[in-house]
Amino acid sequence: MNLSTNKAQELRDKISQTEEELQDLRRQLVELESPVPDPSAEQESTSALDRENPVDTIPEWKWPLKEDEYSRYARQLILPTVGIRGQLRLKSTAVLVIGAGGLGCPAAAYLAGAGVGTLGVVDGDTVEASNLHRQIAHSTSRVGMMKVDSLIEYCRGLNPNVPYAPHREHLTPQNAESIVSKYDVVLDCTDHPTSRYLISDICVLLQKPLVSASALRTDGQLIVLNNPPTAQGSKEGGPCYRCVFPKPPPADSVVSCGEGGILGPVVGVMGVLQALETIKLIAAGIKEEINSTPKEKVTPSLLLFSATSTTSFRSIRMRSRRPDCFACSSKSTLTLKELHSGSLDYVQFCGVTTPVNVLKPEERITATEYNAILAKQLDKTHLLLDVREKEHFDIGSISGAVNVPFSTLQSRGKSITNGERLELEYIPDTLPPDAAIYVVCRVGNDSQLVTQKLKEMGLDKNGGRFIGDIKGGMQAWKREVDNTMPFT
Ligand SMILES: [Zn+2]
Repeated sequence: MNLSTNKAQELRDKISQTEEELQDLRRQLVELESPVPDPSAEQESTSALDRENPVDTIPEWKWPLKEDEYSRYARQLILPTVGIRGQLRLKSTAVLVIGAGGLGCPAAAYLAGAGVGTLGVVDGDTVEASNLHRQIAHSTSRVGMMKVDSLIEYCRGLNPNVPYAPHREHLTPQNAESIVSKYDVVLDCTDHPTSRYLISDICVLLQKPLVSASALRTDGQLIVLNNPPTAQGSKEGGPCYRCVFPKPPPADSVVSCGEGGILGPVVGVMGVLQALETIKLIAAGIKEEINSTPKEKVTPSLLLFSATSTTSFRSIRMRSRRPDCFACSSKSTLTLKELHSGSLDYVQFCGVTTPVNVLKPEERITATEYNAILAKQLDKTHLLLDVREKEHFDIGSISGAVNVPFSTLQSRGKSITNGERLELEYIPDTLPPDAAIYVVCRVGNDSQLVTQKLKEMGLDKNGGRFIGDIKGGMQAWKREVDNTMPFT
């Protein structure tokens, strides 16, 4: 055993040493092959320009793109949508990608490949292993690295000609103006309503078109906002995020125990579409339109994608700007000064998500206490209701737990109000009327609501039966009792 361990270590050392040598050789080769500016050659060319008849000199490069760019972009240059004009527009446009995650990775990669002028990336997070199934520009070896740096490294590998600008921080009301003002087009690749409203507001104030997308579970949506990006109060401008979604979704629906599922290709599709819309906008001349009258009226539309529906894509026509929009209408009082001062509280606006706290201390037990009940075979005939979604439950659960997802309880709320159906469906006939019911969920929020509901339904037999939840849910169980519990 020791022998093979030593041998394996020896091999690992040898591999890393060889890899270092290989890297060094590659570096030497790159240095050798890269053209070194020759001062005498430059002198010659300057003096050649001075000559009256420069016939015997190498012809001057007279085309608008660099030589290698013609071959790099050859396949898009010959498309009517792009053409040489579109390519030059791309090359002179600075694009900002906010969020280097599931949407930002494919979006930035395609924009880098297409040859935008400058590509800025904003994100304050680092790469985690759980990101990799969908955030395809990162890699296992870059876990722990700033996402911005990881994404830029990937894009630079695709296209080293593009200047990249890292912004290693989250967008805030304080830094939004100084970051966004440097760009011509903005992509919202974030995943929370708080940032969506902030990004939309700054784009309205600075008159930047905004390509916004989102994805959750198996669905996605995409919309090009503030297009054309005319001044606040102008009826010619495209709607902003607040015109389409004047009110944020309920805070509870944003962060809940059941949250978090996402299929990699779904968010990938949406990110790719964001890049596509951005390229179309730029190639069509949005940058030139910002300072002039728009060529034609754009009809805003919301594109919906569903991976599970028979019609994968649906497009919904949207209205133009709302006459009473908080941000972009003539009634708006939103200013850069106000935004910068922090008087607009985006977190507050989107609802504060505080942990649920509806149960009394005596109605809750710790994971350790529940483990003691199990270990000592106390309370043998109790019922443990696990209210996580089935997929979470299937990955790992406490032995003997019965799975009744919170969503099932919610959707059948009406039919179970009298308690009869629930008793018949989920509570085994063999459970004595005085046997305790414990409820567990992912982090201990849903379990409280279920406990409360079961009591309201009279299942506690007027105090004859204990109903309570496990504080901190399966997260606490993993921490306190069984750290092998697979947990997502
Ligand atoms: Zn608006």
